[in-house]
This record gives sequence, C-alpha cells and structure tokens, in this order.
Amino acid sequence: MSLETNVDAAEIDKFQSIASRWWDRDSEFKPLHEINPLRVAYIEKQAQSLAGKEILDVGCGGGILAEALAQRQAKVTGIDMAELSLKVARLHLHESGLQIDYRQSTVEAFAEKNAARFDIVTCLEMLEHVPDPASVIAAACRLLKPDGLLILSTLNRNPKSFALAIIGAEYVLGLLPRGTHEYKKFIKPSELAAVLRANGMRLCDTTGLSYNPITRSYSLGRDIDVNYLMTACLDD
Ligand code: SAH
Repeated sequence: MSLETNVDAAEIDKFQSIASRWWDRDSEFKPLHEINPLRVAYIEKQAQSLAGKEILDVGCGGGILAEALAQRQAKVTGIDMAELSLKVARLHLHESGLQIDYRQSTVEAFAEKNAARFDIVTCLEMLEHVPDPASVIAAACRLLKPDGLLILSTLNRNPKSFALAIIGAEYVLGLLPRGTHEYKKFIKPSELAAVLRANGMRLCDTTGLSYNPITRSYSLGRDIDVNYLMTACLDD
C-alpha cells in the first residue's frame, strides 16, 4: 500500500459533510465532547504528565482531543485527511488561543519525515474508519521516541458491541448518525494487541469506556466489550 492510499474516501466525505459542527456540543459530535474529559484523564494517567510532551494526534478531526491536550501544555500536532475538518480546527484556535500544528496527511506519509519524533501518539476513534488499521499502527509506532507511548481507542467486535454501538447508539438512542460505524470494521482487543506485538510494542493497559443510558453518562472501567482504550510502549 502506498503512503496515501490507506484512506476510505467515503469515510472522509462523511466527516467533511458535518465538519462545520465539530464544536457544536449538541451535534453528531456530542459523544466525543462528552467522552473527552475521560480520555484526557486516561492519557494523562498513562503518560504521568503532559506538560512539554510532543504529542501527535492521528485523525484529529476538528481538534476536540488535540485542544484538550494543548490546554495541558503539551506541544500538539494534529493530522487528518479531511481538509474541512482541519479548517474548522484551525479556526477554533482563534477562539481558544491555543497553538496546534494541523496538517493534512495520512499517518503513513507523516511517518516518513517524522520518525522517532513524538513522546505520545494518540489515535482515538479512527482505526475503525480506515481500510488497513494495521498500517496506521505500524506508522504510529515509527513516529514514537524510544520511550514513547501509543494510545489507541476503537470499538470491540462482538454481539454486544453490535447491539449497543450500532443498534443502540445509531438507531434507538440517536447518539450518532445512522451509518457512522460499520460492524465489520470493529476490532477486538486481541487483534489490536497482536498488531502491536508484531510492531515490537508491549501492551501496558487496556481500559473500557462505557455508556450508561439511564444516567446518560460515560465512565472508564473494566468493561471492554464495546468501546476501549489501549496503551502500548516499545518493548525493550
Ligand atoms: N480522533 C478524533 C476524531 C474521531 S472521528 C476524536 O476522537 O475526537 C475519525 C476521524 O478520523 C475523522 O476526523 C476522519 O476524517 C479521520 N480519518 C479517517 N480516515 C483517516 C485517514 N486515513 N487518515 C487520517 N485521518 C482519517
């Protein structure tokens, strides 16, 4: 696969068509806004501290995670293939007053010129939108400094995740637009762990991220059946 081809044009179009609403907390992006404090707390815990760290956010979209990391004094670069999302992300910096370097690139192309540059690479809720997630992970690993951390999140693949992440979230509760996710692109933690091991990485942590429809709130915990986060570092 060449450096620019691990992209599903239909997925990029889907995000471009709603890009103006990235910062609207009542839009399709509401779930990402709601889980963001939990994700940042998770990343901060794994990394111990974010201040001064060089972080690359892969599939940054409108910058929801990138800005929260920059607020904690990290030096953040965000890459995405959706040009309109990057425009929104850059415009939002005028409002937030933060500094983030946003680039339109695949992670594979970015890794060619930036090998071993980052303390942390984050790639959240993006792997399930690309044709070849293993290629994204391999490139992300090349971008890490020897003591760097790779932080991933995606959706597990099993009957419960089908019922909750697709039927529940898209059809019953209407948390996400229909067609946001495709079940066959979901990734089991064991599959992600195998790809990480194949890239010389050691798994440091797996944590679940669950939604409670009664309280309408999210929490981190042991239940990795639907959405989960994973941290890996280079094996020594
Ligand atoms: N990581 C962000 C956004 C998740 S939405 C967050 O969790 O808040 C998925 C993002 O991945 C979208 O912005 C989409 O444009 C981007 N994306 C999809 N395929 C991509 C690819 N091949 N390269 C870079 N970004 C991609």
